[in-house]
Amino acid sequence: MTTAYFSHPDCRAHQMGPGHPECPARLDAIEDHLLATGLDVALTRFDAPLASLDDLRLAHSAGHVSELREFMEQAAASGEYRALDPDTLVCPATWQAALRAAGAAVAATDAVLDGRAQNAFCAVRPPGHHAMRSQAMGFCFFNNVAVAARHALEVRGLERVAIVDFDVHHGNGTEDIIAGDERMLMVSIFQDQLYPFSGGVPLGTNMVNLPIPAYTRGAAVRELIAANWLPRLESFKPQMIFISAGFDAHREDELGQLGLVEADYEWITRRIVEVAERHAGGRIVSCLEGGYALSALARSVASHLRVLVE
Ligand SMILES: [Zn+2]
Repeated sequence: MTTAYFSHPDCRAHQMGPGHPECPARLDAIEDHLLATGLDVALTRFDAPLASLDDLRLAHSAGHVSELREFMEQAAASGEYRALDPDTLVCPATWQAALRAAGAAVAATDAVLDGRAQNAFCAVRPPGHHAMRSQAMGFCFFNNVAVAARHALEVRGLERVAIVDFDVHHGNGTEDIIAGDERMLMVSIFQDQLYPFSGGVPLGTNMVNLPIPAYTRGAAVRELIAANWLPRLESFKPQMIFISAGFDAHREDELGQLGLVEADYEWITRRIVEVAERHAGGRIVSCLEGGYALSALARSVASHLRVLVE
């Protein structure tokens, strides 16, 4: 059984303007590092398919999907950038990229559930965890992980899935979509008092939110995860685990001020794999979220993948 690696050239074509941190070079840095380290030979590559509108509606309102489609098609027709908010821009290639990113997560879920792979990583952009049920924000348009997790429940018939989010920013979009849906448990860490300034008060009993003060290092983060995430994951017994894999809590990343390093991502991934092996037949689908210091991003993704491949 292998680790599937989903990506697509369309995910590279989406751009939000010169100097924007959520840039195509992020995927290039990951690809280059996988080649340089030889890790690529351990992965089974798949081209991400396009998500269907029905897929997107598993996590988003029909109105949001159609409004965003119209907005992106207008950008494509005009050939120019259009801003949804000051940080979140649409270019002519965005619609295709957004469909590939969500489509990767759905296809990875199917690949793992069908036994074509033990687990999967989706090297995609745009990211998804800030995308709410009816609002795009924070570099995110559609919530790739939430779409895939709902696909596992609604289409594939699972009864319980967990979402783990270790991005430095709170996954407010995922929380907005799944809070109160007791078929899903979300456990997350995020830097306290950082964009999007949410998460301090969980919106549902199915959320384990751990706000972490700026400048906290990995050892303290590990203690919090061991004390708070792991017991809840153990008692929830997820049949599949989805990961919002953001690497911007890395010490070198300037979008956050947490102090994680590659060894911490390796440790966190190992704990998630252990839970998945005990309860979920090892089934994990991980999707790239943030991570903007290119070298640290590439090294951290490799640390994450090395554990998934083992
Ligand atoms: Zn982030």
